[in-house]
Amino acid sequence: MTDQTQIARQEICDAMVALVETGLNRGASGNISARMGDQMLITPSGIPPRDITPDQVAQMALASAGDYTGPCKPSVEWRFHRDILRARPDINAVVHTHAPWCTALAVARQPIPAVHYMIAAFGGPTIRLADYATYGTDALSANVVTALQDRSACLMANHGMVVGGRTLTHALWLANELEALAHQHFHSLLIGGGHILSDAEIAETARGFASYGQAAKGE
Ligand code: 13P
Ligand code: ZN
Repeated sequence: MTDQTQIARQEICDAMVALVETGLNRGASGNISARMGDQMLITPSGIPPRDITPDQVAQMALASAGDYTGPCKPSVEWRFHRDILRARPDINAVVHTHAPWCTALAVARQPIPAVHYMIAAFGGPTIRLADYATYGTDALSANVVTALQDRSACLMANHGMVVGGRTLTHALWLANELEALAHQHFHSLLIGGGHILSDAEIAETARGFASYGQAAKGE
């Protein structure tokens, strides 16, 4: 195992624990993958985050039809992790959770409109809802890849959410921002619904993000 792979495996384990600590996952729900060249590293199936060790993180070729290396079976959702990483060269890490507020909207089959400007961080003015399909299936994978088109997140009907980031750190940040957005939208619905920002307002926000914070220094 190369040092780089070992570091990536540890980062995946730490990220799984962080999702539990921040309330985005519970039990053995959720999973994470990260691109390693033409391979992906992916969390093992059905093991609570605090019990996952780096050597249990499975490795799969992105060209694989299910073959993997490692002592543990990969996440049952390896299909959508593989298919997102195949379809989206801009995404290098995928995080799937059953985060409570995202999942509340997902079970009500409600996508998230542009109720807060932070939606621009996800690539456009909507967080779509992927159509329902049974967990772990090719059909679910196809639905998720479709809902993610030009976006870095989607809700999954009657299931949860998925985000894809440039890095695992970015994906974790997006996961937390998405849950915040779902929380805000859910509560605004209770008092009549949020005001929806226009596509032009979201596009302007996205342009502003390019120079937000220290990015303006070109660092
Ligand atoms: P795994 O434990 O196999 O990753 O499954 C959890 C999950 O969230 C299925 O959608
Ligand atoms: Zn799930």
